[in-house]
Amino acid sequence: MAPWGKRLAGLRGVLLDISGVLYDSGAGGGTAIAGSVEAVARLKRSRLKVRFCTNESQKSRAELVGQLRRLGFDISEEEVTAPAPAACQILKERGLRPYLLIHDGVRSEFDQIDTSSPNCVVIADAGESFSYQNVNNAFQVLMELENPVLISLGKGRYYKETSGLMLDVGPYMKALEYACGIKAEVVGKPSPEFFKSALQAIGVEAHQAVMIGDDIVGDVGGAQRCGMRALQVRTGKFRPSDEHHPEVKADGKLHLTGFRGTVPTASSSDSAFQ
Ligand SMILES: [Mg+2]
Repeated sequence: MAPWGKRLAGLRGVLLDISGVLYDSGAGGGTAIAGSVEAVARLKRSRLKVRFCTNESQKSRAELVGQLRRLGFDISEEEVTAPAPAACQILKERGLRPYLLIHDGVRSEFDQIDTSSPNCVVIADAGESFSYQNVNNAFQVLMELENPVLISLGKGRYYKETSGLMLDVGPYMKALEYACGIKAEVVGKPSPEFFKSALQAIGVEAHQAVMIGDDIVGDVGGAQRCGMRALQVRTGKFRPSDEHHPEVKADGKLHLTGFRGTVPTASSSDSAFQ
């Protein structure tokens, strides 16, 4: 493999995943991952543009940013690309009125959306709200539509909380796809439009950016398909088997102890990110 200096040449921007990279969510607001507060601070002091690119769909951006700030992160709402606001834009553009199969924590993001007589379903990481009744309500809405539209905020299989691995939105999205014989539209990673909107926000081209995430498919594979380089951290949902994934190979692995001490530059030494 080429030395880091070569692999990170021309780098102008960094997209950072949040859950599993900066912190593990959980009771009491979750826990910062060792080294990550300092790593974000160091990146923001560097010449690199930084954007947070998350599939978090249980919390509003305000709530998420509030939690992260309490853990010590330098982050503001304006720096976060998240799927709920992107979905709202699509709903408005297409005149869609959703049945919301979502967590109460993210409901405020949909305050301006008309939800009367639903003509589509929006599904997110609803957590405890994935009751039989709520999932069945969504199923019934879709089955009554001539052209059923299912919008899914991400399609992750699972994520890590401080208490352990948790089912994400993907398995429930798949259940509705299967029951209704339809294909969901995914808003969030690994959708190329989502990565592009994050890059646009910092004015950086895909070939000038690196994505740092813990999901080998959603973060690493998705970013690489957009022309970005992508690194996988060894925290969050990382599993050793990710290194032998049949389709996706990260451009590098990241050890936070090294990340904390080194910021990549166009002339990074071979030790950068290691
Ligand atoms: Mg993650």
